[in-house]
Amino acid sequence: MKHILDMTPETLLAEIESLGEKKFRAKQILEWVWRKGATDFAAMTNLSEFLRETLSREFCVFSGDVVTESRADDGVVKLLIAMGDGEKVETVMIPSSTRTTVCVSTQVGCALGCTFCASGLGGLVRNLTGGEIIEQVLQLQAITGRKVTNVVFMGMGEPLLNYGATLAAVRALIDERRGGISARKITVSTVGIPEGIQKLSQEDIPVTLAISLHAPNDALRSELIPINRKYPIDDILAAAGEFFEARGREVTLEYTLINGVNDSNLCCQALAKLAGRLRCNVNLIKYNFVPSLKFESPSSETIEAFASRLRAGGVNVNIRESRGLDSEAACGQLRLRKL
Ligand code: SF4
Repeated sequence: MKHILDMTPETLLAEIESLGEKKFRAKQILEWVWRKGATDFAAMTNLSEFLRETLSREFCVFSGDVVTESRADDGVVKLLIAMGDGEKVETVMIPSSTRTTVCVSTQVGCALGCTFCASGLGGLVRNLTGGEIIEQVLQLQAITGRKVTNVVFMGMGEPLLNYGATLAAVRALIDERRGGISARKITVSTVGIPEGIQKLSQEDIPVTLAISLHAPNDALRSELIPINRKYPIDDILAAAGEFFEARGREVTLEYTLINGVNDSNLCCQALAKLAGRLRCNVNLIKYNFVPSLKFESPSSETIEAFASRLRAGGVNVNIRESRGLDSEAACGQLRLRKL
């Protein structure tokens, strides 16, 4: 079946015309999917019965099924979605009083094998299509009834190693006829693939770029993130600098604090220096314990002290607050359990 979310408005129009239908039908279908939240063609009551039946036979709105839905008291919703071929990905909605953020996966599994991460444990299975990435946002909207305002590409997988699909999803999300979300409210998070960052800086879209740094020197970073041996910190920050110059958007450094690993005074000083070089903001994240891995979460006091020292060094710091399901489900764990 053809996945309607993999189509641009132009390719959808060509499909509709090839069925002998009028052009405005394509616009109606987009409105049903993106504005009215229709999850199948049967719900599209202003289409003829014949067209609804034809579309239902040849196309799908959602290619996957939700196999697990976890909800926390604070409104966080986490889904495990089995895509058309049965491969499973995780996505999470984090609501607050001012925004509704969805974190999407871009790959099934991940090839990069960061030593602290549950998503990389089984290696890469396959890339997701742009439609499968967008579907995560729309499945969460359909289940919760909340309009998504912010999207972060920070789930399973490395977005810049699935560049085409990531970009197609970003374009759909910011397109006025589809998601209508401001590009500034979309964050692409990468462990640092310099070619990908350089490519992204040439696109006409001012997304926010986040670098998952997690260690302030190459020796420690290469232990945690093996691809750092190929792309050391200096190369990544040089590419991030190009992004900043080209797009005028400040870059964020994501730093997951792991107990006794990267939370020392020396690490803090080195991180402050790196952040100062690029005028980056730093997001501090508490490590989520993964049962099969050897790492531990730091205490709240350690995180606060680390943040204070960074601020004293002139760095703009944000501590990502712990939300429901964090403690029981680091990204990738839900899928691992099902496997
Ligand atoms: S942290 Fe990101 S890049 Fe590293 S293994 Fe996990 S999903 Fe892949």
